[in-house]
Amino acid sequence: MRSRQRAFSAVMRLCVKCLRVGRRRRFRLAWRLQQLWRYGHLCLGSLLYNSFTNSDVVLDSLFEPIYWLVDHVTRWFGVTYPPGWICWHLAYGHWNLLMILFHYYMAITTPPGHPPQAKSNTVAVSICRKCISPKPARAHHCSICNRCVLKMDHHCPWLNNCVGHYNHRYFFSFCLFMTMGCVYCGISSWDIFREAYAAIQRLKLLEKETLQVAANQTYYQTPPPTFSFRQRAFHKSIVYLWVLCSSVALALGALTLWHAALITRGETSIERHINNKERQRLQKKGRVFRNPYSYGTWANWKVFLGVDTHRHWLTRVLLPSTHLPHGTGLSWDHPPCVTEPRTPLLAI
Ligand SMILES: [Zn+2]
Ligand SMILES: [Zn+2]
Repeated sequence: MRSRQRAFSAVMRLCVKCLRVGRRRRFRLAWRLQQLWRYGHLCLGSLLYNSFTNSDVVLDSLFEPIYWLVDHVTRWFGVTYPPGWICWHLAYGHWNLLMILFHYYMAITTPPGHPPQAKSNTVAVSICRKCISPKPARAHHCSICNRCVLKMDHHCPWLNNCVGHYNHRYFFSFCLFMTMGCVYCGISSWDIFREAYAAIQRLKLLEKETLQVAANQTYYQTPPPTFSFRQRAFHKSIVYLWVLCSSVALALGALTLWHAALITRGETSIERHINNKERQRLQKKGRVFRNPYSYGTWANWKVFLGVDTHRHWLTRVLLPSTHLPHGTGLSWDHPPCVTEPRTPLLAI
């Protein structure tokens, strides 16, 4: 019994001792932290002591990097625009740029399509005299690629590629979005262009005045400061940008319109010449020529863009899409999206 009591009292003593040690340790830790805080505070105070320092000065100093950033970033934007205007430019500009880059990349990397070299059941309308192989309808020989190209439109030096059955849509979309981008740049930068143009005119006037000062020594008034090299380069770059954008918009716009007219008629650039000749020939005989590959204005566009449902206008036209054109380019069957079948196709 006694031994039990002794053991119990020993355990209790041990517990009390542990509690005392823990309390002492906690107290020591708190004391150390307090000492560190005082030391740090004194150190910081001695290093940064200023009789004018108060909480406002400290806050201002802390926010200084943010003020600097805002000043330097907003300077690039110039005048502060409303949020809707900024959102429009950010959204439209990036969408247009994405569409240009996507269609350009696809137009240069997608092969236009060539007739098979091996024997096949392809319905050929003639034999290519250069390839010495069967030539399907709408295919033509490209003297630069030295190959026959399916539904050949033309060989594009800007793409370094032939425009044919598989990349015709990419080529046209690239031209369209590039024209839209140039028009957008031209309109958006009109005010900046006018300012830069006026600045260049002012610069010319200043240079003229400086020359007059040099010639007339009796004129002692200090001449006004001229533009720095950076300012001149900036103004000239803006003028160059605007002139380049407008020129490309006009030239490429005309090309895009021409191709749009061809697509509306359901013919390629090469077929345009062939069809015109055929039209004139039949006209002399009192007959009317009809393009066998045209399904009607609206249907031609739908076939060209690969639009089968209403949703495709968004997913295949307004967004980057890698869908393939209708058919293989070897034979020209009736496309499924065209509801009204026309008379059997003739080969050209
Ligand atoms: Zn050929
Ligand atoms: Zn070619």
